[in-house]
Amino acid sequence: MSDLANYDPDIYNLIEKERLRQVNGLELIASENVVSKSVLEAVGSILTNKYAEGYPGKRYYGGCEFHDQIEDLARDRLCKLFGAEHANVQAVSGSQANQAVYFAFMQNGDKMMSQDLAQGGHLSHGSPVNITGKWYSVSHYGVDKETETLDYAQIAEQARKEKPKMIVCGASAYPRTIDFKAFKEIADEVGAYCMADVAHIAGLIAGGQHPTSVGVTDITTTTTHKTLRGPRGGAIMCGEENAKAIDKSVFPGMQGGPLMHVIAGKAVCFREALTPDFKEYAKQIVRNSQAMAEVMISEGLDLVSGGTDNHLILLDLTNLAANGSHLTGLEAETFLGEAGITVNKNTIPREKLSPFVTSGLRIGTPAVTSRGMKEEEMKQIGHWIAAVLKDVCKDKDSKKAITEVRAEVEALASGFTLYPEVK
Ligand code: PLP
Repeated sequence: MSDLANYDPDIYNLIEKERLRQVNGLELIASENVVSKSVLEAVGSILTNKYAEGYPGKRYYGGCEFHDQIEDLARDRLCKLFGAEHANVQAVSGSQANQAVYFAFMQNGDKMMSQDLAQGGHLSHGSPVNITGKWYSVSHYGVDKETETLDYAQIAEQARKEKPKMIVCGASAYPRTIDFKAFKEIADEVGAYCMADVAHIAGLIAGGQHPTSVGVTDITTTTTHKTLRGPRGGAIMCGEENAKAIDKSVFPGMQGGPLMHVIAGKAVCFREALTPDFKEYAKQIVRNSQAMAEVMISEGLDLVSGGTDNHLILLDLTNLAANGSHLTGLEAETFLGEAGITVNKNTIPREKLSPFVTSGLRIGTPAVTSRGMKEEEMKQIGHWIAAVLKDVCKDKDSKKAITEVRAEVEALASGFTLYPEVK
């Protein structure tokens, strides 16, 4: 029996239940992935025992000689992966990476421009409920009403009027390619810093499936746990001219001791992302989401912007009638969850419902692609999603499609192991 099972069966059993949920279901949350066993091992290592405030060669604690080497490897690999001049790998999350950048270049009350949360942006891009929205003055841009894509001419016009100190680009629920060069040109015209948050698409950039922001915008932030397939955490990349300001802002500005076990996991993930296999993986993620999107369109479902260029699909549920109103994101998430398909409700452009209910669903392929699934499986999953949504639209109490799909999902999942069974 494992030490944990012996000492704390409550926690052990819950972890085991979660493992089985992941093994038996289909994880289609666009921001999630399945890390390698090597990443898991690094994150679960004895590195968690150590304080290492500071940076390699300049620590505030003794005994950091191996931590210095680990952090140097992580920084060097990240620079190599994205062609960056400087990297900081200490931010414990994507939100903290973003806050560190704002804190480095803006004062309380300064103006920033960013994509609206309700139209694909992220909380940490100045949402009124987030510290970034309370601390800075924020002007949001959205997507064009007709195309549901970013309109760079419109954003440029807004920037000329607002004169922000910083323009933030990058999103959490945007299925199309982002033109980082266009954002940088707009920022240059109005004298603003340009920060790209590539949290969602970092793995696609690393794998050559999306144009890079590194070396284009002034600063790039990312999470390491989405398409990049590493441990939960954040990272920042920039040119040498901004390196000092960024490092100072992360530590001592934002946080104390870095999570060295996670930094080791990040280093492993960056090594993996530098391999030809990872390039193929990134390609497959996009092939998979496009195959699923095609099936959904053929099933008559509405996709925001009409399709996808990346790892995610945003379903617009407003045309799925159910008892006089339309099926909500919350209902669709719940019904699909019962069928073993995990997705998340999401706001869509022109959203009329609250963020707890929503009119959309966000569906992503990074995790199922990590399990080895390809276009054929994606098409099948696309049909299953359509079958469940259409059936519950006819009768919300119907369990017919849910039960049938649940059995099919379990059969499919059993052919694609997450990790070998723990004996
Ligand atoms: N930036 C973007 C674009 C995101 O989508 C997310 C998370 O979903 C974050 C930042 C925040 O990452 P974290 O949850 O690690 O704070």
